[in-house]
Amino acid sequence: MSSERASDSLVQNIVGLVRDGQKGLIVENGIRVIAIRAAALQACIEKVVGAAGSIVAGTLLYQAGKEIGRISFQSLEDQIGVPDDALRVIDTLVVDGGWGRCVDLAVGARTYTVSIKDCPLCHERKSREPLCHMARGVAAGVLEAYLNKKAKNSKEVKCAAVSGDLCVFEVSFAD
Ligand SMILES: [Zn+2]
Repeated sequence: MSSERASDSLVQNIVGLVRDGQKGLIVENGIRVIAIRAAALQACIEKVVGAAGSIVAGTLLYQAGKEIGRISFQSLEDQIGVPDDALRVIDTLVVDGGWGRCVDLAVGARTYTVSIKDCPLCHERKSREPLCHMARGVAAGVLEAYLNKKAKNSKEVKCAAVSGDLCVFEVSFAD
């Protein structure tokens, strides 16, 4: 059910997506967006990791992802309205942004476990360690905005670049 509803939102957005070839603009529901190849984004991230080291880069990319999540949530709120459960919120946003699908959300006492399939950050990549810091940030940013509280901790507990086909993020809150 969740995927059908998310697809409805997606269709709604695609209808509103306009390319102005003259001006070189892509506009979605009146808001300017850009298209970037997943491989280009991966290459940018690799440069950041190379320059800052994996620990600092992980933090920077996580923070950047949180802003993406927060701003995407705002657009959802303004344009479509917020679905009434967190799985649909995250799935609608990742579908809309081309970040894959949110195939599962497990809600614990203080921890939300978000499973993403077809994450663009590890698309066609292999790694010994999880590398989707920005997607971890997107998940945390969306949850923070949806729940209106700050995440205390987050971790990518499974990454499709390491094994399997899911990236799984645990986002925990103080209360
Ligand atoms: Zn990953």
